[in-house]
Amino acid sequence: MRIHIDKDRCMGAGMCALTVPGVFTQDDDGLSEILPGREDGAGEPLVREAVRACPVQAIAVEGE
Ligand code: SF4
Repeated sequence: MRIHIDKDRCMGAGMCALTVPGVFTQDDDGLSEILPGREDGAGEPLVREAVRACPVQAIAVEGE
């Protein structure tokens, strides 16, 4: 699995960081950021829930 954040689309709602705090955080502007080394989702089953929870579909997940 590989996670991508579209920062042009992200509006900083923070749902991803709330849903999976072990993978997502927010940068100084409040935009979503993946924690270093967690681009593969770190085995967190809730990553797909974070994709669904993002109100602007800024998170994309590639592969299983
Ligand atoms: S839930 Fe979506 S809009 Fe909100 S911070 Fe995460 S990526 Fe950005």
